[in-house]
Amino acid sequence: MLYNFNLEISSIEDDPFTVSKDDPFNNYFYINFHYNQVNFPLHTNASNSSFDYKTTITRTLLIPSNILCNCNEITILDREDNIFLHDSFSSVPISSHILKEILPEIGEYAREMVADDDDECRNMWEIDVNLDVTTWYVEDNDVVKAILVVDRLKKVGMDDSSCYYNDQCTICLEEFFNGSKSEHVMTKCLHVFHKECIFQWLKRCISRQSSLSCPLCRNNQIL
Ligand SMILES: [Zn+2]
Ligand SMILES: [Zn+2]
Repeated sequence: MLYNFNLEISSIEDDPFTVSKDDPFNNYFYINFHYNQVNFPLHTNASNSSFDYKTTITRTLLIPSNILCNCNEITILDREDNIFLHDSFSSVPISSHILKEILPEIGEYAREMVADDDDECRNMWEIDVNLDVTTWYVEDNDVVKAILVVDRLKKVGMDDSSCYYNDQCTICLEEFFNGSKSEHVMTKCLHVFHKECIFQWLKRCISRQSSLSCPLCRNNQIL
């Protein structure tokens, strides 16, 4: 799995955030965690793929400040704190590789924030953490094969309207120039379909190990 990520941490400078010494969250970090993930199949061009998949999750996490502030590249290997931090972040589907990279950065930020804090009353800190992750994956072979076939089909659009045999896509029955799906492709047998619809059709042909036929005329040479 290939990935890249962008981490942004910022503090929320409120009035000193204090709770009573007996409060169970005395000396805790209050983390507003925003997680955005976009997945792309490896073979498509990320910028115009219609097969992407997005996840956005926001969680509030409470982490004891000693655990967060002690977190660095070395202690991340320490079992107990590591398990606590991993458990705390487990409500968000972050890969363990990324978690290993971001936790020391969050730890460093927390240490600096506590060290720079000249308000002695403060015993709770609040930070915003934004994590954007982009991954490129090979979901399964049928999907990849179908994408490769669809990408080789001729793209058509409004300018080629004379080549449209039908006004509507015969797979989903939605009109071509009046619907939500904007990408159209043409098979070798000169039949036009929504890119998305023929992709689903071809994926089914591939998973049933049947030949790649045109859904309209059943011609076996769609490329
Ligand atoms: Zn369609
Ligand atoms: Zn056809």
